[in-house]
Amino acid sequence: MLNLKKYSLNDYKEFELIRDSKNEPFYSKLVSLSASINSQFTAYISNTRPFAAHNLTALTVDTSQKSALLVCYSSKTKALVLLKKNIRDFQEENTRAMCQSCGLDSAPTFDHYLPQSLFPEFAVMPANLVPSCGTCNTIKDNGVLDENGNRKFIHYYFDNLPDTQFLHLDLIYRNEVPTVSFKLLNNTSINPDLFDLIKNHFTHLNLLNRYKEKFPNIHSRAVSRIKNARTLKRNPRSIKRFLEDEAISIKQINGINFWEAIIYDELSKSSQFINQF
Ligand SMILES: [Zn+2]
Repeated sequence: MLNLKKYSLNDYKEFELIRDSKNEPFYSKLVSLSASINSQFTAYISNTRPFAAHNLTALTVDTSQKSALLVCYSSKTKALVLLKKNIRDFQEENTRAMCQSCGLDSAPTFDHYLPQSLFPEFAVMPANLVPSCGTCNTIKDNGVLDENGNRKFIHYYFDNLPDTQFLHLDLIYRNEVPTVSFKLLNNTSINPDLFDLIKNHFTHLNLLNRYKEKFPNIHSRAVSRIKNARTLKRNPRSIKRFLEDEAISIKQINGINFWEAIIYDELSKSSQFINQF
């Protein structure tokens, strides 16, 4: 779970490239809306630190204008394909391959952070297009704000994720069977508003349960890796260090709060796990 990098210094220019690839009747509609779209893009960008673009008033458009805006994203023009490629290629190697919203899957789709249904003018704005897996993208279609008016999801371009640990795991053995539960803790003075947003993000994407479902797989893989590590000494100290090193490697690639690293960390602290070897 790491921040992504917002592509392009000029979002409006990216819109123009797509607009200019359109045929009539859409092209003329888009040209007539262009000045308003430019203002909306400027307003979006100036409301990103902290992110508040969800409070903007959406552009007033009629049905045919809305269709022209939505077709910018729904029809597969060369300009759109190139924009998507550029957004992906602009990301770091370690974040490109995975949906950062969950850290569980690849990111073949693009999520509209502010939904196209509410803000059609941001349908192809680079700042509003976030690489995402299908599961997160579908869940996010349910809207931006919760019942208290707070944002439900992290914006991976603009909400700066903490560089301290907030994802934790309780690992308990009952009759030699491990049971786990993930939890979020703010014991490193993370800004309370940011921590609330993180909690909301985890709740709405059901991440703690989705990570829990992955535990048996990582647990059995850890057992297998220890058994197959040819140079590893079979003593508790060496095994503990091996697990700690796994956690460090995973964190270096996927971030300090990556669920798999948290599992390795917890296994490294568990004498019940280590003493089985
Ligand atoms: Zn995802």
